[in-house]
Amino acid sequence: MRELAFIRSGRLAWRDRDAPIVRDPGDAIVRPFIAARCDGDTVPIHRPVSRLMQAGIAVRAIDPVVGCICGRVPFRGPFAIGHECVAQVLEVGSGVQRARVGQTVVVPWAVSCGTCEPCRRGLTSKCATTTSATLAAYGLGPASGRWGGMVADELRVPFADHMLVPVPADVPPLRVAAASDNLADAWRSVVTPLRDRPGGSVLIIGGGAKSIGLYAAGLAVAHGAAVVHYVDDDPVRRQIAEAFGAHTFPARARSRRRRAVTLRYDVVVEASSRAAGLRRAIRSLARGGVCTAVGYYLAAGTRLPLMHMYATDATLRIGVSHARAVLPDLLAFVARTGYPAEQVTTLTAHWDDAPTAYATRTTKLVLQRHAV
Ligand SMILES: [Zn+2]
Ligand SMILES: [Zn+2]
Repeated sequence: MRELAFIRSGRLAWRDRDAPIVRDPGDAIVRPFIAARCDGDTVPIHRPVSRLMQAGIAVRAIDPVVGCICGRVPFRGPFAIGHECVAQVLEVGSGVQRARVGQTVVVPWAVSCGTCEPCRRGLTSKCATTTSATLAAYGLGPASGRWGGMVADELRVPFADHMLVPVPADVPPLRVAAASDNLADAWRSVVTPLRDRPGGSVLIIGGGAKSIGLYAAGLAVAHGAAVVHYVDDDPVRRQIAEAFGAHTFPARARSRRRRAVTLRYDVVVEASSRAAGLRRAIRSLARGGVCTAVGYYLAAGTRLPLMHMYATDATLRIGVSHARAVLPDLLAFVARTGYPAEQVTTLTAHWDDAPTAYATRTTKLVLQRHAV
């Protein structure tokens, strides 16, 4: 069978490998037919970061923890890439009870068991059963386990009854193309904090984690935020955020428009992936506000305004998203409201064109082929 492999910066290719088989009674084999590109995948594709990061870790300019997550040589190709997909179930093991052949499902990016202590607490991306190092995940290279990438003809999914989350019948699969990761990440960054702050004000600093910021803008509006401000220098993304009902500003806005974004917000999403963006996000918090940082901050010793946080009773949440834990609520919400997440997609390409399409500089790429 065929899977998409990251070779090196700017270059991806199909490669052949043996089709996966059911190994444990709880396994399922699925066939992805929609795959989306996670914002994080563009890091090694659009910039030759592998050597730079290796050197940065060696001289400790980059936090050595990065090496634990990405391996000692981060993003060294070739490895199977892709960790957002909607798939059809092809085959299930003898112990599988809920997942059924033919079902359309979302496969979460991180592999989890559903029954260990972290899983029961909702920390599914830190599953104690599947995680040997920092992560157990699809499409992130060997440091996260040999689970393969999701731009593949077939995929083995362990703990299938827990892992596979059915797409509700009336939800178009393209709408939830990014539910495996980026859409779920946006959910935890705005929907969860707004539950404790109903009608709160929301600021999103976008442009780094490009699609997450946009999904977050749309979800914040749809969940009754009093104000949603979206900051990004890219006019196309600002247009998408405005179509969701957010007010938008360029990051470098001056004068009157700048003042509008020096308000204080109950919920802030840091999606610029820059230390300066993180500090700005924290300084934008209202009393008791919560900032969720969805990006990466690789530099060792990133400075934060801790006394400002102390004075405002600020909360900073940082870390990977626990997509599996939020998927049932997220998919039910999309089914109930028709939330048009597909408005974030800036390029839909045919599956066969994945090697070139996956390298495109566009905000959100989605690959599609026929379901069987
Ligand atoms: Zn991701
Ligand atoms: Zn677990």
